[in-house]
This record gives sequence, C-alpha cells and structure tokens, in this order.
Amino acid sequence: MSKTWDAIVIGGGAAGLFCAGVAGQLGKTVLVLDHADVLCEKIRISGGGRCNFTNLHSSPANFLSLNPHFVKSALARYSAKDFIKLVQFYRIAYHEKHQGQLFCDDSARQIIEMLLEECAKGNVHIRHPVRVESVSSEAGEWVVKTNAGIERSKSLVMATGGLPVPAIGATAYSLDIAKQFGLKVIEPRPALVPLSFTSGEFDNLIELSGLSLPVRIAAGSKGNRYGACRFNEDLLLTHKGLSGPAVLQASSYWTEGEVIHIDWLGAVEANGRFSCDELFNNEDNRLKLTENILASVMPLRLSKAFAEQKKPIRKKMG
Ligand SMILES: Cc1cc2nc3c(=O)[nH]c(=O)nc-3n(C[C@H](O)[C@H](O)[C@H](O)COP(=O)(O)OP(=O)(O)OC[C@H]3O[C@@H](n4cnc5c(N)ncnc54)[C@H](O)[C@@H]3O)c2cc1C
Repeated sequence: MSKTWDAIVIGGGAAGLFCAGVAGQLGKTVLVLDHADVLCEKIRISGGGRCNFTNLHSSPANFLSLNPHFVKSALARYSAKDFIKLVQFYRIAYHEKHQGQLFCDDSARQIIEMLLEECAKGNVHIRHPVRVESVSSEAGEWVVKTNAGIERSKSLVMATGGLPVPAIGATAYSLDIAKQFGLKVIEPRPALVPLSFTSGEFDNLIELSGLSLPVRIAAGSKGNRYGACRFNEDLLLTHKGLSGPAVLQASSYWTEGEVIHIDWLGAVEANGRFSCDELFNNEDNRLKLTENILASVMPLRLSKAFAEQKKPIRKKMG
C-alpha cells in the first residue's frame, strides 16, 4: 500500500506552493498535484510581469469577505511585513509603485522561484502535469485518484485558484469538490475586473483610450453582497471600456444594471487642489472656454470631450 502523506495540496499556484512550503518546513510530508504543464503561470503574468506581491498598507479593511473576522485572524498571523521579510531574505529587489503597492524590480519569475525554493526547503514533492480524477474520503483519510495513481493523505488542501484565464489552467475544481462534500458555495462573480462596453455604446470614448486620471468613483448599494463603496483612485480609459485601479476596485461592488458614479474631478478636489466652484467662478477663468478651464485639471483630450458633451454620460455598462 502507498504511503499516507500528511497533506496533499491540489493546485500548485501562489496559495498552494506557499501552503506546501510552510507545512513542509514544519516537518509535514506534503505532495502538490497540479494539472498544468507549467506551474504558477498566473504569478508570471501578475502585475504586468513584475508581480504586485503585497501592499505596505494591507489591512483587513482592504479585503472583501462575508466573514470579515477570517481575514483579521489570517493577517494577524501572517502580515504583509512577514512576506516582505521573505522577499528580502531572497534578495529580490522591489519598489513601491503607487499607494503602497510593491512590485519586483526585475520579474515575477523571482517570486515563483522563491516559492519553489521554499517548497524544496520543506522537501515538498511536486507532481505536474497530473490529472486529478476524483477525491473521496475513506476511513479518515483523503483518497485522491489521479491519472498517475492513487494518493492518500491525512489533510487535503484545495488551492486551484480563481476562475479567470482558463487558458492557463484555471478551473472551478475546488468549488466542485466543496459541493461534493456538501459545503455551501456562494455563487462566484467577477471581482477586480475592468468594465467592457457592449459594442456600439460609447464609441466616442475609444478615441480617448490610453488616458488616465484620478477620479472619485462610487458603486454598489446597501443591499448588495458587499454594500457600497467610494474610492479616490486612478481611472484608465481603454479601447474596450474603463479600467485602472478605480474601476477594478469598484467592479467588486457593482451589480449588473446598477449605475456607477464617476466624479471626474472628485479626486483632484479631494486632494485639496481646488473646488469645482472655485475653478469655474475664478475671475481668471471667466472668459475662458470650458475645455480650457477643464484642461488645467485633466488631460486636454478629455476636457475637449467633456466640453462637447451635451448631456452627462449615464448609461448601463455590461
Ligand atoms: C492578469 C492578472 C494579473 C494579476 N496580477 C496580480 C498581482 O499583481 N498581484 C496579486 O496579488 N494578484 C494578481 N492577480 C491575481 C493572482 O492571480 C492571484 O493573486 C494568485 O495567482 C492566486 O493564487 P492561487 O494559488 O489562489 O491561484 P493560481 O495562482 O491561479 O493557482 C491555481 C493552480 O491550480 C491549478 N489547477 C486549477 N485547476 C486544477 C485541477 N482541476 N487540478 C489540478 N490543478 C489545478 C492551476 O494550474 C494553477 O497552477 C492577477 C491575476 C490576473 C489574471
């Protein structure tokens, strides 16, 4: 009969490898199984290839959860500072980009190598590509049937990640297994995503793609899963719609059909540079064209578009 591992981790991405490394270094026997040819593809593409590996100001308030206490206890036991220490131990050079976001100077691959090295230190066994065919529980042990044989363990970690980018191996397998064992699954929905316009809508915005500016954005409402939000952040106009940190954050609160409020001058106002009233009632600006007044606080192309706009942009996004 084959040996019983202390833990089998299904999914060798960021979470799976980190978990396996820690457990291995605590003396546990750990096997990681992943169906991908190449591990950690999502880390490789993260942060535009430089991996935004943590945020200096990371706190429970930055996480959305139906159980906010979970993240409080998780961060109390392992904080952003702990991860930064690990990155420093591996001499990975990094920089702060914006509002505490930390990125590798060189490449996200350094984070992958670090996680693999942490696993090696814990004698973790990693097998891939391996197809997991079934998971069952027999006589107090987990039985994982794969195309390369049957493995048994005392603990099972499901770490198959989120649903985005199936082309690089993402599946809903952990949710399927949760359902198989009678765990309540909350219907997943997109979060931290850009908003794309249906073709034909906002065609005039395509000309503005590439522009980025600070805005105040508000989305969601009291009855929603996570309530309402309001952020001062950067918004990016793209050829498909709206993106940038402001929209990515707001998307997690937005429900289809709801209006998203964007105050295009709000973030500049909030920084105390001016108030809108002052801007338009200022004696120096009285004889200026609207587009020129707006151009003093936003990109010229956008100020022109606003000046040409007869009615406010207020349509449904999808
Ligand atoms: C374009 C993009 C950019 C991002 N940038 C950042 C960033 O800069 N910073 C950040 O913190 N986060 C970023 N993210 C989010 C990032 O992907 C996650 O933080 C991180 O990868 C989640 O780790 P994970 O281990 O949960 O999932 P993954 O890293 O997705 O790992 C899941 C693993 O499970 C394996 N798997 C899936 N199904 C099965 C199955 N049935 N059987 C066996 N194995 C399976 C997959 O092959 C994969 O190796 C980004 C995401 C995207 C899409």
